[in-house]
Amino acid sequence: MKLDTRAMRHLAAEDWRVLTAVEMGSKNHEIVPTPLIEKLARLRGGVSGVHRSISALAKVGLIARVKEAKYDGYRLTYGGLDYLALHTHASRKDVYSVGNRIGVGKESDIMVVADHSGKQCVLKIHRLGRISFRTVKSNRDYLKNRNAQSWMYLSRLAAMKEYAFMNALHEEGFPVPVPLAQSRHTIVMSLVDAFPLRQISEVPDPASLYADLISLILRLASHGLIHGDYNEFNILVKEIKSTAEDGTESIVLEPVIIDFPQMVSMEHVNAEMYFDRDVNCIKRFFLRRFHFTPSQPGPFFKDAKKTVGKGGLKRLDATVEASGFTKKMLKDLEAAIKDKKTVGEGQEGANEDDEDDEDDYDKDGDEDSEEEEGEEEEGDDEDEGEGRQEALLSGGLS
Ligand code: ADP
Ligand code: MG
Repeated sequence: MKLDTRAMRHLAAEDWRVLTAVEMGSKNHEIVPTPLIEKLARLRGGVSGVHRSISALAKVGLIARVKEAKYDGYRLTYGGLDYLALHTHASRKDVYSVGNRIGVGKESDIMVVADHSGKQCVLKIHRLGRISFRTVKSNRDYLKNRNAQSWMYLSRLAAMKEYAFMNALHEEGFPVPVPLAQSRHTIVMSLVDAFPLRQISEVPDPASLYADLISLILRLASHGLIHGDYNEFNILVKEIKSTAEDGTESIVLEPVIIDFPQMVSMEHVNAEMYFDRDVNCIKRFFLRRFHFTPSQPGPFFKDAKKTVGKGGLKRLDATVEASGFTKKMLKDLEAAIKDKKTVGEGQEGANEDDEDDEDDYDKDGDEDSEEEEGEEEEGDDEDEGEGRQEALLSGGLS
């Protein structure tokens, strides 16, 4: 799903009010009845103004009319939610313009954005809940409960959780992007000037990078956490030039970890499985890519478990839970992510032929003009060829 911000500058203040009204209404209504939109928007111009805005919003695909419904109504589209989030980021001065997309996963879009000072940052848009309905088909309960809000709810949860973890990890001095802002299903973070490990074909000293990556796993564990998707796509490697006293130059590699919606506590019932999977993922990659085999076995979960919170180390799993995440939220998100993993496992080639899933999800078939998904690999750099930043709003924002 492409983020096209062009229509943003043409929306009037009333249009934003109406769009916000549809968002508010969709908390309790799968399809928001038009009279409710009128009521929530409370435009000075009255009902006719609301109708004008509704047409304008529907025309650019931010809301969609649902025809087969028992009553006349609209629902918010992904594009509409994107616009609302960007509008919030813009009015808080976190984002000024949107540039190229640098990454696309099955459940996220990664865009380069700039703030008012021109500093480049990264906007991650979570897109959970509209994928992998092939596996969901076998899950009646999920299907039954599926409604217009589920993708909104799940995507928002993913962004909230990711942001909470990024904050906690950043505060604790872990090498992660700097969390800058969050709204709805999106987060803004610093742009890491580095390539994913996956794109690195050679390193001067695999053993030392391997040791760094394993010690990060252990350091996370000592704070009560498991990354849960510790792979070559989610580890960015910074190349830092350093000059020794005798003038010889060398390059030091510094890993930066990203992608946190699936992080789990060391207390999770399946913690050992997640821990081992993270460790093995790195081992497998180092063997395949760099023909490197560590001289020691492990690390092992049972040893890592003993270090949790030791010496007064802050429990970051508890910090995040204390930040307003209810058990139900974590469970909902976990179920959705597990579902995605079944399809997305291995990430490569996992996007094949999911068009039917899209159809299945979006019965109205009106908002998605996808052409790119299903062909791209997550994490691969992508150049949309435009190289420009699109300012979000021309004038001042209320
Ligand atoms: P997903 O949940 O879809 O896997 P990620 O957060 O892993 O999303 O991001 C996907 C890709 O986007 C990464 O592999 C990386 O190439 C790029 N990326 C994400 N965040 C940043 C960042 N802060 N700086 C630079 N590149 C990033
Ligand atoms: Mg990722």
